Amino acid sequence: MKKYQSNLFVILIAAFLLQTCSLVPLTGRRQLSLVSDADMLSMSFGQYDQFLKENRLSGNAAQTNVVKHVGRNIQNAVATYFARNNMSQELNGFAWEFNLIDDKAVNAWCMPGGKVVVYSGILPVTQNDTGMAVVLGHEIAHAVAKHSNERMSQALVSQLGGQVLAQALKQKPQKTQQIWMALFGVGVQLGAVLPYNRLQEGEADRLGLIFMAMAGYNPNAAISFWLRMSQKGGAQPPEFLSTHPSDKKRMAKIVAAMPEAMKYYRK
Ligand SMILES: [Zn+2]
Repeated sequence: MKKYQSNLFVILIAAFLLQTCSLVPLTGRRQLSLVSDADMLSMSFGQYDQFLKENRLSGNAAQTNVVKHVGRNIQNAVATYFARNNMSQELNGFAWEFNLIDDKAVNAWCMPGGKVVVYSGILPVTQNDTGMAVVLGHEIAHAVAKHSNERMSQALVSQLGGQVLAQALKQKPQKTQQIWMALFGVGVQLGAVLPYNRLQEGEADRLGLIFMAMAGYNPNAAISFWLRMSQKGGAQPPEFLSTHPSDKKRMAKIVAAMPEAMKYYRK
């Protein structure tokens, strides 16, 4: 009887997970989804505005302009890519925004719906427009591949017993917000950061290279960017490396993805 019960339990859990998995058109992969797109966008826009209120925008007009200018170019490339693949409706509800904040942390992220923040601390690693395109292409790829929906869902399972997002926000707003911040390496202890997994990194690398190439930036620059970033590692890796863990295997995959990306590159 016990065995029967435990089998039944496994079947119920499997059925639950299957039901809550949704197919993401961009990746062609089923992802665990305890969050609706509408709930993710609503939380994202609220958290983004809150973040901008609590942090200081950069006063450097030239550097801010690089972030906004390169950001718009990547945004346009993404729109073109989605249109070519008949997926434009996937970008519905996006409200793109690009901001540079004055903060020495080495970090950058794109919250769902196209809400981008770059920290001034990453500028010595990006070095120029093409380096910025590597970062923005990669971060925006995570956002359009809905990786945060997947990571939020996994965290809701592991930390809040599988509550759906809307319910978690009502019942445990503070905890839910903490999980959200941990997804982007924002204001949390580095140990609490929730990194993207290998599969998500691979998807963001490949798509990010394509988006930057379509926007007119040479994707080969990604290799030297990640080498410079990895040199920032060590005992206390920056936020950006904690959320986007890198290793030799990943670098090899980036190199392998280059010929495909170069097909999209127009100088
Ligand atoms: Zn990443």
